[in-house]
Amino acid sequence: TSFGYKQVREDEKSKLVGNVFSSVASSYDVMNDLMSVGLHRLWKDRLISKLNPFPGMKHLDVAGGTGDVAFRVVERIKSVSHRATQGTLTDLEEDTHIYVCDINPNMLDVGKKRAAEKGYNEEHCLSWVQGDAEALSFEDGSMDGYTIAFGIRNVTHIEKALSEAYRVLKKGGRFLCLELSHMDVPIFKDIYDVYSFSVIPAVGELVAGDRQSYQYLVESIRRFPKQEKFAQMIQEAGFEMVEYENLVGGVVAIHSGLKL
Ligand code: SAM
Repeated sequence: TSFGYKQVREDEKSKLVGNVFSSVASSYDVMNDLMSVGLHRLWKDRLISKLNPFPGMKHLDVAGGTGDVAFRVVERIKSVSHRATQGTLTDLEEDTHIYVCDINPNMLDVGKKRAAEKGYNEEHCLSWVQGDAEALSFEDGSMDGYTIAFGIRNVTHIEKALSEAYRVLKKGGRFLCLELSHMDVPIFKDIYDVYSFSVIPAVGELVAGDRQSYQYLVESIRRFPKQEKFAQMIQEAGFEMVEYENLVGGVVAIHSGLKL
């Protein structure tokens, strides 16, 4: 591609991604905790702090899977507005809407079940929409925020997903991407390499009975553009004030940008 990193053949990639997430949907949340030793929770909390959700906001979480990010957005908004109104639902809060978009219906189904267990439903301003990050069904300039967590790495044309993110955001809207990235601390990098190439596929086989899918996940991290490169891609999609923050030495990075 014009961004100089090697891509898997496109048809192959879409098929692989489909298989991976159909096969892992039911064990996804457990695997997430295991593989990141629970850290993904802190990373997602950090993502939400940067988003700074507010009552009345329209937010789109793409590749939202089983709802982890969306639930946090809803909870943050509730805690903000309840502090102000002592627990009664404000008009603004009723205007709030969080859309979870994912290409895989199995992941969304798990998310819907989790939402029901939490007592959330459509009235609680949460919608589940099956769709592709590269061709969103949402209107131009309709969202205050866009998040994508551990999702853009799996998208076939990253540039298309980025320009769709730009399109659906309002002026002043914020783009945030949490993604496994490239570690830049030499000694830890070696340890991390062993962990990702040996431990992750082995645990995948043990817990989810699926070594190949987890092998694929590790390889997809390797192929993903480095932090600077990815920041440049976000800029090329039209975003301004693009920056990124490395967590755990770059194991994970949060990229952000504004549509001005
Ligand atoms: N964001 C969730 C989280 O952090 O727990 C889920 C992340 S999961 C690793 C990646 C998700 O991306 C899967 O649910 C998968 O179905 C979804 N996905 C892959 N390609 C996609 C695409 N082109 N458009 C939308 N979602 C996609």
